[in-house]
Amino acid sequence: MTNVIGTTTNPSERLVEIRREIETIARRCNRAAEEITLIAIGKTYSAEILKMALAAGATDLGENRVQEAEEKIAVLGRDAARWHLVGHLQANKARRAVRLFDFIHSLDSTSLALRLDRLCADEGREELPVLIQVDLAEEETKSGIEEANLGTLVATVRKCSSLRLVGLMTLPPFFENVELVRPYFRRLRQLRDDLQREGAFGEARGELSMGMSQDFGVAIEEGATMVRIGTAIFGERKPHGS
Ligand SMILES: *Cc1c(COP(=O)(O)O)cnc(C)c1O
Repeated sequence: MTNVIGTTTNPSERLVEIRREIETIARRCNRAAEEITLIAIGKTYSAEILKMALAAGATDLGENRVQEAEEKIAVLGRDAARWHLVGHLQANKARRAVRLFDFIHSLDSTSLALRLDRLCADEGREELPVLIQVDLAEEETKSGIEEANLGTLVATVRKCSSLRLVGLMTLPPFFENVELVRPYFRRLRQLRDDLQREGAFGEARGELSMGMSQDFGVAIEEGATMVRIGTAIFGERKPHGS
């Protein structure tokens, strides 16, 4: 199934619509909607527009660039929402990421894990929840760790004193036909289940961060616990810089 992109023009109304749609899909596959966190991805949209989502009850906001998030957090406040970093994190922005974000979904290397852990100590941050981004498509252009190296990264994260591994994230390749994305979601869930069995998430439930505007329905059917939705809430993005 393809998701219906909101028919109204107001982000607050669309957020409500999407939430209702998540409930419908969850019910259809015998899941509780409460176990699915809707993360509103506000990249390229102004703090003023994000404010409308907050007014409509958004609890979780996601950004893919540290600099952009920093500017919006300066306006909206660090405590206005739970802030999620969903884009690739460069080493030189890691300190700011430790200060700014509640969750980092894009952990993709052992060097980044060790750096984040050191910075947590430095910044007096006791605990930083992280998700490992897995590159299931093995595309050169996509970030994320290859499946073959996942075990090593998990072991590293578990040795870090401040990082808390809470789940896995993936960004599958784009397909017109959303059914083609399903195998990627299914694979991420298998990997999560295997790690869960090994106790890799400790007390955490083993989040599955997968599903975007186009394919969140399929993602929920396959077990997503965090969906990252931008355009279906805020509208089509203009290219950066325009
Ligand atoms: C932009 C982005 C999203 C949201 O994509 P939409 O198609 O606008 O819903 C989700 N995840 C990541 C990592 C993104 O960069």
